[in-house]
Amino acid sequence: MSRPIVVLAGDGVGPEVAAQAVRVLETVSARANLDLRFEHALLGGAAIDTVGSPLPDETLAACKSATAIFLGAVGGPKWDTVAPEIRPEVGLLGLRKALGLFANLRPVKTIPALAAASPLKNEKLDGVDIVVVRELTGGIYFGQRARSETEAFDTCEYTVGEIERVCRTAAELAAARRGRITSIDKFNVLDTSRLWRETATRVFGSEFPDLEVEHLLVDAAAMHLLSRPADFDVMVTENMFGDILTDEASMLAGSMGLLPSASLGDGGPGLYEPIHGSAPDIAGRDAANPCGAILSAALLLRHSCGADEAALAVETAVDAALRDGIRTRDIAAAGESAVGTIEFGQAVIERLSL
Ligand code: NAD
Repeated sequence: MSRPIVVLAGDGVGPEVAAQAVRVLETVSARANLDLRFEHALLGGAAIDTVGSPLPDETLAACKSATAIFLGAVGGPKWDTVAPEIRPEVGLLGLRKALGLFANLRPVKTIPALAAASPLKNEKLDGVDIVVVRELTGGIYFGQRARSETEAFDTCEYTVGEIERVCRTAAELAAARRGRITSIDKFNVLDTSRLWRETATRVFGSEFPDLEVEHLLVDAAAMHLLSRPADFDVMVTENMFGDILTDEASMLAGSMGLLPSASLGDGGPGLYEPIHGSAPDIAGRDAANPCGAILSAALLLRHSCGADEAALAVETAVDAALRDGIRTRDIAAAGESAVGTIEFGQAVIERLSL
């Protein structure tokens, strides 16, 4: 029997959007004979409430032996006052670390029908189809740090091995897409960036000679992402630069509710989740946009199940629903009627051509 997909529905709108993603996966599985099985486990606030820990041992064990993990979202004001070491996000960070998920992939594709939802001018958005690959387990967020009353420091550290593996993941992706890769660093100032650029140049040159390679300084990249977003294919960068650039890139699409993500390691189970949080302001009202969750399910099919055709069918069905004018409240223009989370999920299923 196949290993299960572990579903961590989480908190707030997490269970609402995860339910639609699972519905889509179940439909795809039945129609394409994928034999997907689902197992539900606790993470975040829901786990704190039930067993007193944001990442229970049983959840971690289930995730380690899964085909893939699907996450809704964790957190919310209910757990704002719990001790820092058991906050809901600690569960998610612990899970990413325990699974060695070093590459965070965030695809950003603009949908012509939704151009009005982006703060950028429409002509800049034509043909935007980018994947930002962010290194997720190294850099300044994990280096040595200290502070006194009057001083503080954080250390950015990278090894050649850490840079090589994320550059390889990004390059493999670029080779399967339009063959273009942009590596982003701060080569003119930082030693870690000089190591990054040397290593990236070597990996791309020796292992992926057919790729068109560009190197950009992070400050220039932040500007080019807005001035010429359609030129980029795959962008790869270190942890903090990626944290900032991925949020900037998400605005090209318009709403937080639209975008998916995948976090991948070295062959173990990947973790798939929409980029948004638990949206406590709209939770429990069937008002969340499930696009990011459903598109994360498509990434799961592509990267953890080798089911490229099924993944594309899901992405095409989401596009079709949006093209047909189906809108949740966050993306409905003034005067346009909006559907709920469940109805949007149904609209995607109705448009699945499998
Ligand atoms: P958020 O992403 O939850 O919400 C930001 C805004 O976007 C809100 O107005 C919300 O209504 C809207 N929004 C988010 N998702 C939406 C969707 N699917 N459809 C329609 N609108 C949507 O960010 P926040 O308010 O800063 O955080 C809320 C909680 O989520 C916090 O506890 C935070 O720690 C947590 N969080 C969790 C994750 C995660 O689980 N990976 C990520 C970010 C934030």
